[in-house]
Amino acid sequence: MRTGIIGRGVSGLAAARLAEAAGHKIKFFEDTPCSPEKTSICILAGFDLLIVSPGVPPCSPVYLAALASGVELISEMEFGARHFGGPMLAITGTNGKTTTTELTVHLLQALGVDARPAGNIGFPLCDICADILDGRTGKGVLPVIEVSSFQLERCFKFNPFAAVLLNITSDHLNRYHDCMDEYAATKFKIFDRIPVERRVAGLSLRETSEFKLPVCEGNKITVSGDGLRYDEKLIVRQQETQLNGPHNLENLAAALELVQIYLGGDALFSPVLKKAVCEFTTGRHRLEQVAEHSGVVFINDSKATNPASVIVALQTVSVPGRKNVNIILGGLDKNMDFSSLLGVSDFMKKGFITGQCRQAIFDTLSRSFPCELFDTFKDAVTAASRNSVAGDIVLLSPACASMDMFKDYKDRGDQFRDLVSNPDIIHQ
Ligand code: ADP
Repeated sequence: MRTGIIGRGVSGLAAARLAEAAGHKIKFFEDTPCSPEKTSICILAGFDLLIVSPGVPPCSPVYLAALASGVELISEMEFGARHFGGPMLAITGTNGKTTTTELTVHLLQALGVDARPAGNIGFPLCDICADILDGRTGKGVLPVIEVSSFQLERCFKFNPFAAVLLNITSDHLNRYHDCMDEYAATKFKIFDRIPVERRVAGLSLRETSEFKLPVCEGNKITVSGDGLRYDEKLIVRQQETQLNGPHNLENLAAALELVQIYLGGDALFSPVLKKAVCEFTTGRHRLEQVAEHSGVVFINDSKATNPASVIVALQTVSVPGRKNVNIILGGLDKNMDFSSLLGVSDFMKKGFITGQCRQAIFDTLSRSFPCELFDTFKDAVTAASRNSVAGDIVLLSPACASMDMFKDYKDRGDQFRDLVSNPDIIHQ
């Protein structure tokens, strides 16, 4: 079988590894600045299968040529799923995917399941499949897959045992023709081949009437106060855990739903599960306190790459009406609608706005609370620090992706931490 691999990043290399292990003859294709000549439709038409990585934009010449070639074009995750014989769990949503994936894996492992994080979280499903073929991993592993909408776009047979759709809010609209319905329809694809009793909708998604959600009858966990219950029996209270904010209650509920679907409701009352829930902490760059100087708290939420994640950050770290947050906003433009941030102006002391889409954010928000534009990230962080007095919070929660000025969100968060550890930045 002749297989073309489009994109040569982590996913492309994993797809190539699996394809070779499965006996395919492979060739890579990608658009690079060094090879501006377009990959021709005729060349791609000579292949039996094309596998595209999630990072390749649908409007790029090589993607367009692949579509026009008439050859079957699938995502890396779809290719992995076609090779993986056993059950898989899948998690998607605009926000909370990584946290919910990590949490689900952590809980299932504590309960004795050989669960493995997979997908967008940094471990392509194809690598897990290749590891199984190589004998490096046993066949009994349960991939818990963080699924991006980009992977779902080219999925046709992907059939996880159960799946969660956490939430859908404005993000990636540059990829979906500025159309929220198109973005939502792509997310709904996760349920295409899952029976309704194994489909789970996130807590906030169940409350929204914005989209016509596919039928989901897998939800069995209810919220009362800050407690999560199954069959009216208390599983855990949020205050017993290290998970703060309404968003993490949503993530915890979703992970517990997957546990009850996969192992049955009794597993939720095992003391081992309770201990595992209480031990779990979220990863770095998500509402991570990185410094405190003279009563000013510095919080790194660099992973907040859309407005909805900024709203939950403010709901978690501050109190409405206190207006004590000096927020650093801005970054790469994804054609997002920032107007939902007007709803949290009650938390804001001032916005320090930088990055590629700074003007769009400024134009939307500056009528509602004080905002200032900055040319560099360092200038924005410096000014936010100097505008703070005891009791204030300096919050990096940018509402945007990082690749306009940084390698990735981790680089942005690390630079923030380094800057706010520098006494020259903080003090006048
Ligand atoms: P993802 O993998 O979907 O980007 P993460 O778990 O890495 O999700 O979290 C990304 C950002 O979104 C962080 O700033 C985090 O605080 C916030 N977040 C996490 N879970 C949720 C949720 N359920 N709803 C809204 N925001 C969330």
